[in-house]
Amino acid sequence: MTTITNHMPTKELQALDAAHHMHPFTEDAALAKKGARIITRGKGVFLTDSEGNEILDGMAGLWCVNLGYGRKELAEVAARQMEELCYYNTFFQTSHVPAIALAAKIAELAPGDLNHVFYAGSGSEANDTNIRLVRRYWDVKGKPEKNIIISRKNAYHGSTMGGASLGGMSGMHAQGGLPIPNIAHINQPHWYAEGGDMTPEEFGLARARELEAKIEELGADRVAAFIGEPIQGAGGVIVPPSTYWPEIQRICDKYGILLIADEVITGFGRTGNWFGSQTMGIKPHIMTIAKGLSSGYAPIGGSIICDEVYNTVAGSGDDFNHGYTYSGHPVASAVALRNLEMLEEENVLDHVRNVAHPYLMERWQGLTDHPLVGEAKLVGLMGSIALTPNKETRAKFASDAGTVGYMTRERCFANNLVMRHVGDRMIISPPLVIKPSEIDILIERATRSLDEAYAKIK
Ligand code: PLP
Repeated sequence: MTTITNHMPTKELQALDAAHHMHPFTEDAALAKKGARIITRGKGVFLTDSEGNEILDGMAGLWCVNLGYGRKELAEVAARQMEELCYYNTFFQTSHVPAIALAAKIAELAPGDLNHVFYAGSGSEANDTNIRLVRRYWDVKGKPEKNIIISRKNAYHGSTMGGASLGGMSGMHAQGGLPIPNIAHINQPHWYAEGGDMTPEEFGLARARELEAKIEELGADRVAAFIGEPIQGAGGVIVPPSTYWPEIQRICDKYGILLIADEVITGFGRTGNWFGSQTMGIKPHIMTIAKGLSSGYAPIGGSIICDEVYNTVAGSGDDFNHGYTYSGHPVASAVALRNLEMLEEENVLDHVRNVAHPYLMERWQGLTDHPLVGEAKLVGLMGSIALTPNKETRAKFASDAGTVGYMTRERCFANNLVMRHVGDRMIISPPLVIKPSEIDILIERATRSLDEAYAKIK
């Protein structure tokens, strides 16, 4: 077999891709006809494809390459760690320095008494851990029947059976018999699409109180935990009204329900603080982490666990019968630790708060002057715009949901900008190191793409 390299013609790479590579969240037969875009390298906020196009990555990969592409320091740490100790597990009463050092660093950065880390290989795995952990917690407390976890419709918590069940994506639940038992879903705090005539504040309270109603319906003695993304990401960068999270917190506290914040996207600087929970004023018992933990340079995730939950499970007198081969993988842990150090050394959170966010906010808000754009939201460096045929009524397009969004996404692709669409919402989550001059390029390409999509539907 010939060696497959970056230098092969695009068509040949696409043919091999179509023949042997099944893609996540993709209709592969349709992609095979079109051919995948082949990405060959990355530097800073830019990607290069096999045709030599330079693409501004407005999504930081999948919301993860927070330090930007091509950071030598991380490659060097990985190489060093592979030579020193490429792998060892953390089962059977063993540990190693990278896992210890990273856990200590995460505990230092995490707020309150979130002092303990259980490692996973991804966000999905970490959420599976959370299901088992909270059920184990209540079991040890003598309340095994307190095992239902409440989540939201249109939430995304991963693709494993557990993660997808916690998530509220109808398309995922429609395939493969999900959700698993004892997961319940309430409505999301998506004011723009579902708020009707209510003010955002009224709507935020109403949606939070659905949690109280659900707990009353199921019985507090049956409900183990509530899980939510501080800001829904894959659902469309939905920023909840200011009234929402304080009310959710009040309800969890009142009924003795554990609160899990899924920080897979919002963790490690994305919202301008270390954690989205700090930005939204939430005090969770458990956080799910992944993505930005290593800036996507190595696959790693985990759960950060408060003292009470940890002490209960750890002190139960029995093993917690759960773990992954790659829990605390030494190479991934070493890379993640260096990534966190670099975020600190380079004052990346300050850059997000004081430079990139204010500049992008001004330019992003400017997009609401475009005839297609009904609202523009941006927290830290995660943002969305809602496309609408009527800004006054926040109406949806008459065409199939997402057609205009898909068309705009395709125009972005053609204009060398990665911007995702969720239905008719366009979303961005660029590397946290993006500079104002690069934000100008992002906005220029986004505007051109919106103009082209608008010209097609006018
Ligand atoms: N939780 C949230 C909030 C996510 O956005 C994601 C991925 O996008 C996950 C969990 C799943 O993480 P992973 O894809 O690493 O399994």
